[in-house]
Amino acid sequence: MLKLPIYLDNNATTPVDPRVLQAMLPYFTDIFGNAASRNHPFGWKAEEGVDYAREQVANLIGASEKEIIFTSGATESNNLAIKGVYEMYAEKGNHIITLTTEHKAVLDTCKHLEKLGAEVTYLEVQSDGLLNLADLEAAIKPNTILVSVMFANNEIGVIQPIKEIAAIAHKHGALFHTDATQAVGKVNTDVNEYGIDLLSLTAHKMYGPKGIGALYVRRKNPRVKVTAQIDGGGHERGMRSGTLNVPGIVGFGKACELARLEMGQDAARLSIMRDRLENSLLELEESYLNGNKDHRLPHCTNISFKYVEGEGLMMGVKDIAVSSGSACTSASLEPSYVLKSLGLDDDLAHSSLRFGLSRFTTDEEIDFAINQTKEAVMKLREMSPLWEMFKEGIDLKAIAWAEH
Ligand SMILES: *Cc1c(COP(=O)(O)O)cnc(C)c1O
Repeated sequence: MLKLPIYLDNNATTPVDPRVLQAMLPYFTDIFGNAASRNHPFGWKAEEGVDYAREQVANLIGASEKEIIFTSGATESNNLAIKGVYEMYAEKGNHIITLTTEHKAVLDTCKHLEKLGAEVTYLEVQSDGLLNLADLEAAIKPNTILVSVMFANNEIGVIQPIKEIAAIAHKHGALFHTDATQAVGKVNTDVNEYGIDLLSLTAHKMYGPKGIGALYVRRKNPRVKVTAQIDGGGHERGMRSGTLNVPGIVGFGKACELARLEMGQDAARLSIMRDRLENSLLELEESYLNGNKDHRLPHCTNISFKYVEGEGLMMGVKDIAVSSGSACTSASLEPSYVLKSLGLDDDLAHSSLRFGLSRFTTDEEIDFAINQTKEAVMKLREMSPLWEMFKEGIDLKAIAWAEH
């Protein structure tokens, strides 16, 4: 029997893998020490757990354990990377380049720095969501200290040309940061292969617990430094003070190890399921895939349904937990700024659905999601005068709507 509602919002967060939970449990009770306590076994045991997890996290991204700074999640990691570089390299310059489609944790951090004197260039992306490398090249200036471009987008899953972006940044003496929150543990994110100087990641998007993440900071070629944003006891080599979240860190480590061992087979299985879902939904007339089809994450898809009203669509798929580009599911009144950056009009942005599959998604769940979504779209269109006009071959764009 299917358990409803079906969870297909895994770009927002994932369930904790039971094996991760098992690894964490002893660290709430028996091994509860403060990892910074140097004088007794309680502290040593906790520290051992943290050290092991640090290796597990580092291994997943091809880093060394000294390059991992534990944080409360990717929001904090992005803040530390961007503000930390801005402060540390103030003498070198004040210009930062990023994208209009970044997560708010990057965009709002950049906006904050603008108030403090930073110059920020927000590059537009192409209609498939990818950055045009010539635009980046043209935006770089002598005072550019940082290029921050996300690895994979959280709404549409497109994967940016990271290696090429890093190379352009380095050619001009700038550092390269990537918010790899959606990509780590799903696809290869090896920091040396891609030439990444700083990388943000979080546990809860890869079957680990919430409230724990990390920032990778390169130590060799070049040695990168960031100014601490949280001062205190000098934890994490002075870059992020605060008593370590030992159970969270242990779970994060386990999640990274599982990802390293299983992401290949997960990706192979999930991309087949995702393609089946996507192809079925694209069989509907006037439905459109958002974002580049070839350069993207294996487990998610984002589709807009023309002549369908966004709020009605969300109600129609009430047994499937998904996100939409519609304003009614977000705090703001605007439809998704990411979809608008691709050039979608408000209607298409409103009537989009984002499906994110997980390690735990089943074929039966995909069958159900296909059926309920198709039914919802067809039912809404039956009631839509615009759909009727479209079917009658009336060119809607050519109609001069009466002004009210
Ligand atoms: C989820 C997400 C974040 C925020 O991560 P938290 O750990 O929840 O703070 C940042 N960037 C991207 C791309 C995300 O998907």
